[in-house]
Amino acid sequence: MHEGSIVKSLFDIAGKIKEDEKLIEIQKVKVVIGKFHMIVDDVFLMYFDLMKKEYKGFENAELIMEEKDVKVKCKKCNEIFMIEDPIFICPKCESFDTEIIQGNELHIKTMEGMK
Ligand SMILES: [Zn+2]
Repeated sequence: MHEGSIVKSLFDIAGKIKEDEKLIEIQKVKVVIGKFHMIVDDVFLMYFDLMKKEYKGFENAELIMEEKDVKVKCKKCNEIFMIEDPIFICPKCESFDTEIIQGNELHIKTMEGMK
């Protein structure tokens, strides 16, 4: 259950953006989340809705989640493949020498609000 702490740090960052942009009321928060983080959408959303009441200006904010599939590249044969489970083995040459090239994201993409 790490969703709660991720949502909290998300609000901390969102709060700073809100101040920098001089926004009063936030309507939408769009986040990019790589599937590598194994986040459960419903749990994440539940925490967001629970916590937003504690953050001034976020009471009516809507969360939009953009998920990224985990894409892995084999360093041995350069094969690029998607994975559902965290098993980093190349389907072509069976090497474990791989790296994540997509799916490790976790950040706020855009925020919409009123000044
Ligand atoms: Zn390979």
